[in-house]
Amino acid sequence: MERSIIVTGASRGIGRSIALKAAEKGYQVCVNYKGAADKAEAVVREIEAAGGTAIAVQADMAIEADILRMFETVDTKLAPLAALVNNAGIVDKAAPVADMSLARLNRMFSTNITGPFLCAREAVKRLSTARGGPGGGIVNISSVAARLGSPNEYVDYAASKAAIDAMTIGLSKEVANVGIRVNAVRPGVIYTEIHASGGEPDRVERVKSMVPMQRGGEVEEIADAALWLLSEEASYVTGALLDVSGGR
Ligand code: NAD
Repeated sequence: MERSIIVTGASRGIGRSIALKAAEKGYQVCVNYKGAADKAEAVVREIEAAGGTAIAVQADMAIEADILRMFETVDTKLAPLAALVNNAGIVDKAAPVADMSLARLNRMFSTNITGPFLCAREAVKRLSTARGGPGGGIVNISSVAARLGSPNEYVDYAASKAAIDAMTIGLSKEVANVGIRVNAVRPGVIYTEIHASGGEPDRVERVKSMVPMQRGGEVEEIADAALWLLSEEASYVTGALLDVSGGR
């Protein structure tokens, strides 16, 4: 049966890899992006070239109207929704809590917490068997920062991911008997451009000596974990916080 998946922030990095692998697994893919239309379209073309189906949908995860429009677009253009990956996320420049402005905190929490909540809400409305839906899966991309706390760097980011962990646990219990599994992947340090947005492009090189496996992770290693959690192979897994972090 045809089914679709929404991957937020899928124009690059971990989200892009999840979108490509989801298409390989047979999902029709909504490649969400905020500003990089060209990169999102490139992901769509890559999926189509391999024989899959995908659409690029612009939506800012910090804006509710955008999120509603994204889900409505998927309702009309793709197969019934079966899965959501809350992947979009931001870090800010490294700073101690004492120097964090209200604007920074609002931006961090609206993007990393409120957006995933609203997406989860819209997904549950469509997936819940109690509401006539087919059931399905939600994977939240959290971070090991949620348990490390990221002092002097990104306590705001770590706190946002801890909120995502709590949402994963609570929502998983709320929807466990209406056909929906909710899990989180907690990446360690992964080679993506997020570190440049935080002002330190080579962060993985600096931090990798603290990783027991002595290396950074690749986006595909996170994507494989997310797709496994969505798969039938994980049919009895819900509320799990899966660290994919080289042992860190
Ligand atoms: P990335 O910066 O390459 O990707 C993040 C994506 O989210 C980008 O495409 C960005 O445009 C998008 N995005 C940001 N704000 C958005 C918004 N308001 N609306 C829609 N899209 C938005 O970084 P990544 O490393 O691929 O990050 C993916 C996820 O993995 C994030 O949630 C991040 O916190 C998490 N993570 C990454 C690492 C790492 O080391 N790379 C570690 C732990 C967790």
